Formats: sequence, structure tokens, C-alpha cells
Amino acid sequence: MPFDLSQGLAERRAEHLYRIRPILESPQGTEVRVDGRTMLAFCSNDYLGLANHPDVRRAFQQGVEQWGVGSGASHLVIGHTRAHHQLEEALAAFTGRPRALLFSTGYMANLAAVTALLGQGDTVLEDRLNHASLLDAGLLSGARFSRYLHNDPSSLASRLEKNSGNTLIVTDGVFSMDGDLADLPALCPVARRAQAWLMVDDAHGFGVLGQRGGGILEHFDLEADDSVQVLVGTLGKAFGTSGAFVAGSEELIETLIQFARPYIYTTGQPPALACATLKSLELVQQETWRREQLQHLINRFRQGASELGLTLLDSPTPIQPVLVGSNARALMLSALLKAKGIMVGAIRPPTVPAGTARLRITFSAAHTEAQVDRLLDALAECWHKLEPHPYE
Ligand code: PMP
Repeated sequence: MPFDLSQGLAERRAEHLYRIRPILESPQGTEVRVDGRTMLAFCSNDYLGLANHPDVRRAFQQGVEQWGVGSGASHLVIGHTRAHHQLEEALAAFTGRPRALLFSTGYMANLAAVTALLGQGDTVLEDRLNHASLLDAGLLSGARFSRYLHNDPSSLASRLEKNSGNTLIVTDGVFSMDGDLADLPALCPVARRAQAWLMVDDAHGFGVLGQRGGGILEHFDLEADDSVQVLVGTLGKAFGTSGAFVAGSEELIETLIQFARPYIYTTGQPPALACATLKSLELVQQETWRREQLQHLINRFRQGASELGLTLLDSPTPIQPVLVGSNARALMLSALLKAKGIMVGAIRPPTVPAGTARLRITFSAAHTEAQVDRLLDALAECWHKLEPHPYE
């Protein structure tokens, strides 16, 4: 039978799930040019406003002068430069772990860690709201794969009763579509009792949580605790650059270098990017005012949104979803905001469970109070226009 792709695409459209890529015509920032218009954006993960920071840009340019553009090979062949190495050492120091290993993307870091640690006969237990890359990694590993109820230590414990082989528990640190935190103080003892390893992907927590930006472990004062053996961070969010890392023991990192196919068989990230990230890592730690400003804006938004009667989730982070329900309504709300010059993404299944479509509003330390107020005013007006849900 010949391939027929049209039916799948038509179904996506009919279910209001068709995805469209906006084309950005300016650097990342709180105000961006899209389709010839200047828009106020609340949808990037540039939480600290570092993606276009002059010092980070300069470090990138100097990196290009020193190293050229491409790394030219995979890390194990001849693509691993002194710049990559210095960044790995700095990330190890930042996370307080013996070593860190750099990846080109968070997706690959997650695939690498899980598939290198587990195989047939092992067990992987994942929070059901984990990021797609973690779920894909679990499936790809060939281990027995099971999902526990969101942030529920007893659901996890019940699944641990029937584990076999090496057992890895995997959770987002900050859940990417809900913005809430993994309940690590409750999950760590469960993992320890079962002698399972715990892997935390803190893509959205590093730089944002903790006094020095140390992420969810600093937030819960668990940095010295040894229950989290595998710690993942991404660099394309609060760090404002691109790439990711896994931090952990000497043996863990050597295991990844020796066995992780998504590490071994791919070109290293451009060394200049490592130079840029080294600079942003400095700023993340030194410029604590960025986290304070971010928290201030988050509080202001939550206060205003609850006064408007919007349904928020229990999120203390810059990811502030507004629950809308149906896919069509989420799309319509996003379109109404766009007409007012405000960009916010409508997140729909399969990224989130059916019936929980939402606006995913994200804040940056670069936003101003006035911009947050503009968003609240626009939400008040557009939410009102949604009634009585004409698309349903
Ligand atoms: N983990 C989480 C929790 C994420 O939200 C994302 C994507 N934004 C990733 C991993 C993947 O990271 P990257 O974009 O660097 O591939």
C-alpha cells in the first residue's frame, strides 16, 4: 500500500492539534519580531534573560575567533576541545559532583543516561508527567518501563515492590508543562529504601531555583545528600545558550563515555558555545538579582491572575500554566492574545493529558512589571471574550 500522510495531517487539524512554527525575525528577548510585528513574548525558556546578554555574546564571538565554528568530530574522535573540557569542570564544580559530561541537547543527554544504565531485565520507573525525552529514553532502554502517578511516593513505592534488575527512578526536577517541583524530600527516601538509583532532570530548575541557582537540590537543601545519582541539566533555558550535561560520579561519567550511544555517535557541540556557556554560568551564579526579579514577577502574576479567577497550577517557578481545558479554547485564547500583540503558547495533547490544554506562560528576569501588567490586562479581556466557548 502506498504511503498516505494526508490523513494523519488532516486528523491533527480536525482535533485542533496542528502545530505551527512562528518565525522569529529578531534575537530572543521579551519583545520579539514575528511576522513583521513586534510582540511581547511570554513563551521562551530564557528565564534569566541571558540568551542575548552582551557578555555571553562576546564570549561566543571570542570562542569563534579561537576555535572556529564547528567541532569537526565526535568527542571521542577529535571533537573534544579544551573549551568543552573547561565547561565540564565548571559544571562539575557548580553541581558539587565529581564530574560532568557535556551533550549537544537535553534530549540526547536523557537518552544517553537512561540507555547506558539500563537494559533488558532492568526496571525504569518514571513520573507520568515526565518530559518526552525521559519517557522515550525509558522505552528505548529495553528495561521494564512503568509510570507512577505524578509526584506520588506511594504509587512509586507500590511499583518498586515488583522491580527486577537495576532500578532507575526518573523524574523531572521542575515539571516542564506544570511548573511544579518534584517532591524530592519524599521521593529520595523511597528510592534509598529500595536501593534504586534516582535520576533528576532539572532542565527548568538550574539557574532558577536556589540562592545561587543550584536548582532543585539546592532548593530542598539536598545537595549533600547522595540519593540523586544522576543529575541532568540543560543549557538552552536559564543559561541562555544550548546543550546539556549529566553530572555524577566518576564511574557514572566514564560509563556514559564508554557506553552511551547518543554520546559516542554524534558530533560535539561547537566549542564556541562552550565558551559562551562558561560566561553564562558565571552570570547565573553571580547575578542573584535575576532570580529575585524573576520571583517578584512570578508573585505579581500569580496574585493578579488569581484575582481574575484564572485557574493556575501549584507552581512556584517561571512556568505558569493557565488551564483552559479544550484544545480549541486554548488555541482561541492564544490567538486573541496574539491579536493584542502578546505571544503565549497553547499547549495541547499529547504534550499534556487530554482535557488539560493550557496556555504555558513563562517569565524571564528580563520582563518588567509593566509587561506583566499588560499581560494580565490582556488576559482579563480575552478570557471574557472566550465565553460562552464558541468553539465547543
Ligand atoms: N528535559 C526537560 C524537562 C525539558 O523540558 C526539555 C526541553 N525543553 C528537555 C529535557 C530537552 O532539552 P533540549 O531542549 O536541550 O533538548
